[in-house]
Amino acid sequence: MESNETTSRESESISPAVSQPDSSPTPDLLLLFLRDRDYPCPGCGYNLRQLLSPKCPECGQPLKLGVNLVDIRHGFWITCLLGCSFPAGFGVIALVVMAIYASSFSFSNFELSAALWLLYLIGMIPATVALILRRRAFVKLSRQAQAGLAVIPWVIIVVILGMIFTS
Ligand SMILES: [Zn+2]
Repeated sequence: MESNETTSRESESISPAVSQPDSSPTPDLLLLFLRDRDYPCPGCGYNLRQLLSPKCPECGQPLKLGVNLVDIRHGFWITCLLGCSFPAGFGVIALVVMAIYASSFSFSNFELSAALWLLYLIGMIPATVALILRRRAFVKLSRQAQAGLAVIPWVIIVVILGMIFTS
């Protein structure tokens, strides 16, 4: 145990740039921050003002300083996600129905337009999954690009509803 601590301390002093951001200790900054601030423990709500060690005296959980966004801008991503997940939900239902009636199902039983709707609904399933997996890449795009992507699935929905109700 003690030899481990010594080794990690040594490696830090030799190559501080190699240490991971998450594992780098910030107790001094944390204690400085809390010296004259009322701040509740995120775990138990205990007031951490004038904390003496990087650990909550009430619940005993270790504490660290962090960086948070002031305003998480996920509005366009959520709009896009809703526009994709709404038809994807019907796509899942369609897949379940197709699985249940697999023996008698064939795309040739459908009119071309109905088959295309079905492909659209099912195609929105991987689109939704991709959007969830690529959230970080999405929010890195310019606001205009995000807005454009957010609008696309809703335009498709409006066009489809328009075609259904005018036919
Ligand atoms: Zn606590």
